[in-house]
Order: sequence, then structure tokens, then C-alpha cells
Amino acid sequence: MAYDPNNIFAKILRGEIPCNKVFEDQHVLAFHDIRPQAPTHILVIPKGPYVSHADFAETARPEEIVAFTRAVGLIAQQAGVEDTGYRLVANHGPDSHQEVPHYHVHILGGRPLGPMLVRVD
Ligand code: 5GP
Repeated sequence: MAYDPNNIFAKILRGEIPCNKVFEDQHVLAFHDIRPQAPTHILVIPKGPYVSHADFAETARPEEIVAFTRAVGLIAQQAGVEDTGYRLVANHGPDSHQEVPHYHVHILGGRPLGPMLVRVD
């Protein structure tokens, strides 16, 4: 799947629409989810144009992957959920209901999160 430069996170990266930023460095931006599903719900995105985890893992430069992985841990720590616990979610493709085609990891925490998946069948 080709990267769509008009996706909402690309617009946030270009400063065309605002976000509630919690972290930024050379390779990474993190901000609060606009429709939080837990008391802590932060989205961490690489600045490069990657559609999903598969694209990022395959094509990002090693320094981008290291920076992103470390940033996720640091942001969770700074959000205060390291001791109580948190969940990382990265949706890829239709079965996951990925809404925004720019790779992102959700950091969810701040309350007991319940089972990993709700059974629907
Ligand atoms: P996905 O389903 O792609 O894994 O998650 C996309 C997430 O982006 C959703 O949780 C949704 O609430 C969030 N989101 C969508 N549009 C915006 C926006 O304009 N700003 C922010 N901060 N979050 C957004």
C-alpha cells in the first residue's frame, strides 16, 4: 500500500492541524489521542512516511527504529504508567480496523484495561 501524504497524521506532522503534543525529537512525535479510550491514551508516530508496522519494520533506517522504540518506552514512563502497567497497540490493515494509514503505536493505561480482546464471534 502506497503512503498517502494527505492522511491526518501527515497533516499533524506538517503542522496543518494541531495536536496535543507530549513528546518530539528528530524522528518521533507523540500526542494525546483525540478520542481517548483510557485515562492515558497517547499516539506515538515516526516522522517518516510509513503506512504501518510492516512498512516501518521493513523500510525505516535502523536509527529511526531505535529512536521510535526507545521513545515509546520513555513516553510511557513520563506518562506515569510504567508501574501500574500499560498496553501497546499497533493496528495494521482492515482486520485490525486501522483508521489512519500512518504507522502509530497506541499507549493505553491509567486503569485496569481488561482482557486484550473482546470476543465478537
Ligand atoms: P487506528 O485505528 O488507526 O489504530 O487509530 C487511529 C487513532 O487516531 C484513533 O484512536 C483516533 O481516535 C485517533 N485520531 C484520529 N484522528 C485524530 C486527530 O485528528 N487527532 C488525534 N490526536 N487523534 C486522532
